[in-house]
Amino acid sequence: MLPGRKAYWGSLELHTFHDASAVVSALSPDEPVILNRPHAAARAACFFAEKFPGKSLYAVKANPSPDLLRVLWASGVTHYDVASIAEVRLVRSVLPEAVLCFMHPVKARAAIAEAYKVHGVRVFSLDSHEELAKIVDATDAATDLSLCVRLRVSSEFSELSLASKFGVDLADAAPLLQATRQVADALGICFHVGSQAMTPFAYVQALERVRAAVVDAAVTVDIVDVGGGFPSIYPGMEPPPLEDYFGAIHRAAESLPVSYSSELWCEPGRALCAEYNSLIVKVEKTRGDELYINDGAYGALYDAAHVGWRFPVQCLTAGRSETLTGYSFYGPTCDDADYMEGPFMLPADIKAGDYIEIGMLGAYGAAMKTAFNGFGQASAIEVDDEPMASQYRGDRRDPRQSDNVVSLR
Ligand SMILES: *Cc1c(COP(=O)(O)O)cnc(C)c1O
Repeated sequence: MLPGRKAYWGSLELHTFHDASAVVSALSPDEPVILNRPHAAARAACFFAEKFPGKSLYAVKANPSPDLLRVLWASGVTHYDVASIAEVRLVRSVLPEAVLCFMHPVKARAAIAEAYKVHGVRVFSLDSHEELAKIVDATDAATDLSLCVRLRVSSEFSELSLASKFGVDLADAAPLLQATRQVADALGICFHVGSQAMTPFAYVQALERVRAAVVDAAVTVDIVDVGGGFPSIYPGMEPPPLEDYFGAIHRAAESLPVSYSSELWCEPGRALCAEYNSLIVKVEKTRGDELYINDGAYGALYDAAHVGWRFPVQCLTAGRSETLTGYSFYGPTCDDADYMEGPFMLPADIKAGDYIEIGMLGAYGAAMKTAFNGFGQASAIEVDDEPMASQYRGDRRDPRQSDNVVSLR
């Protein structure tokens, strides 16, 4: 980027445009532009703070943008689920007062020691006796630890599985819970039902497994952490309202045989940040129902390429046909894998040079783009319009009529 250009972009940081169309009119950007919607992230955070029947930890890996972290903090999110020492340092530097919970069940000894001794981390997760020994050793047998045993649960109701990598099997959980109880100040049980869980039953079923584990181990449990997985809205994926999830979790957790003063936690990543970002891309070439655009698999569209995730889209160029066609996208790099199958519903007569806004990219999207291409914060622009879909605005519309959220299932 030319120095002059950089200064130009830098000066835009303070400028808020209304929406993507205003950005395109003013800048005709040749590079992709990330749009930030702080109001949408703040609304999501307030929703969890008010309605989740317990404490909400933001899962930082979903989007570690410092601007977003500050928005969530200002909206009442005090606890952060961090998964690497880099995330520990980042959140500690941006939010000095935040409570950090190191919820990756496999950590380096040095990471545990630094987290505990330098950054004041007291909450750790684990799923093996080796990790428990490592935590005890790295913290010099600290007596003020909250230790959460990660239980393996089913991912069958989620779009992205997190079932195979982490978690102790129910059959092996009792000895680990008992050993952890011996050294923990507070004992927790955590799990993750997989990302984008499409039914509250995923949590009910997982909490049944928690019940079996607690009964089996006959230990006092102080924290029940239902993890992440709370869904957002995407084309073909219209989940029930989050209140249904919270109600089902509340009822199932209330009936668990745990300490009456026990705490209920959750670790939303996607649900807190999906609505925070969208992306403006430019069409460089068309070939039938394939569009060559300037962002892709190595940018913000990782999930669109690798797991065929579909995102809502709209054409930002005026005067195009109302008739929509289902397109697939090619990204800017030279390999065939830089391909997003879609279908993405856009005007049948879209042309090279047109602009597209791709919505709902705040979770596992915009953050990856920034990191991979050095497309830093200076090039993100704030807008104040509504995200293309929302779990939080209280007017859930028919997905087939709005937001370009089309259901092909
Ligand atoms: C990724 C992750 C989360 C967040 O999951 P979402 O599906 O984005 O809500 C929460 N907890 C842990 C331990 C994770 O690894």
